[in-house]
Amino acid sequence: MNIHLLRSPELKEETYRNVLHLLQQFRGPMHFLECEEEVLLDNSYDEVRVWDNSNDFEKLHHIQFSRSMKEVSELTIAFPYNEKVKTWKQLFLECKKYRSVKKISEDDIVVLLTDYGNNPNWFGGISPSMKNYFIQTSNWEHFFGTSIDVRFPIAYEVIIWLMRFYMFPTNEAIMANIHKTPIGCIMDFCQDKSQIILKMRTADVCDSCMNKFIERDVPKLYTRQFFDMLDGIRETMTFRGRSKLLQQPSRMEIKGYTKKIFFTDLGGLELRLNPKEKALYLLFLNHSEGINLNELQDYKEELKQLYTRFCNLSNPEVIHNAIKFLVNPFENDINVILSRINRKIKEAVGESLLDLYSIKGERGEKKFIKLDRELVKDLTN
Ligand SMILES: [Zn+2]
Repeated sequence: MNIHLLRSPELKEETYRNVLHLLQQFRGPMHFLECEEEVLLDNSYDEVRVWDNSNDFEKLHHIQFSRSMKEVSELTIAFPYNEKVKTWKQLFLECKKYRSVKKISEDDIVVLLTDYGNNPNWFGGISPSMKNYFIQTSNWEHFFGTSIDVRFPIAYEVIIWLMRFYMFPTNEAIMANIHKTPIGCIMDFCQDKSQIILKMRTADVCDSCMNKFIERDVPKLYTRQFFDMLDGIRETMTFRGRSKLLQQPSRMEIKGYTKKIFFTDLGGLELRLNPKEKALYLLFLNHSEGINLNELQDYKEELKQLYTRFCNLSNPEVIHNAIKFLVNPFENDINVILSRINRKIKEAVGESLLDLYSIKGERGEKKFIKLDRELVKDLTN
């Protein structure tokens, strides 16, 4: 079974890739495929819904706020807040358009990931044909701040909609079997985002829902992949939550010719750096003793070698100049690149683990990456 994961143009590429990569890690008969985005660039008419204040916004999402959750939130939405919305019909039309342009088999499933809100106000939906889906990817930060990595709930939503596809013959059957009172099952009605997190932590399926898999004779390999994914997400989320307390950082793996960097214990999350950032990060990773920025020129050759490997530039002069600019102590380039790298790390691992992976040091002193190098496995050497 092929599942085409579409990125609506407004959704951050980083988030899209992280969700895709998370889902692709679990082997089985379901294959998650990347979309070719040029097809999705549409400018169809969309409506704007105005939320005058946070009370209405949260009430309509039926959020039960706990104080701690609210305090955690750093990216609070400023009200009045204009949320761009589309109708379900519009969202499924985008799936259909992709299908026809790409000549996708009727048996395949298409899931649109979009920052748009929708009417009615759901976090995900299924088309009457049961072959097209959408998942809303926005607003998570408003409810959870940086305490939750958004790729987990998004990936989780994708999985549970696919499970429903296998468990029930029709849309109506899905609706009829939803648990109106949450019991920590995948069929709980997700009226609000905080409930999704609780469900993800239990990552469970109740007995009556489990029976649907048997009744409908869902092939074992599919069921196994579903449960691997649910368990995998739960473990990874839990790992991130506990890691600070237990002082247990994730291992890091470096793979492939272009030395892609992955956080092994964070669901294999990739740290996506551009060639220059990656060259600099790997330089610091290679030198656990640290490097004083004023002496960066001494590492010019190593940097150049790494940079050449990562970028497609064949012109040695362009490469030479880029590195020369980077190591020049009278330029600010190095500081700009360093803060970009550290910001990307923070986005990937969260505040609590940032300190271990970032490149830092006192002003004028050596800068270094704290991480115990025993945890770094370079599979490219
Ligand atoms: Zn259930």
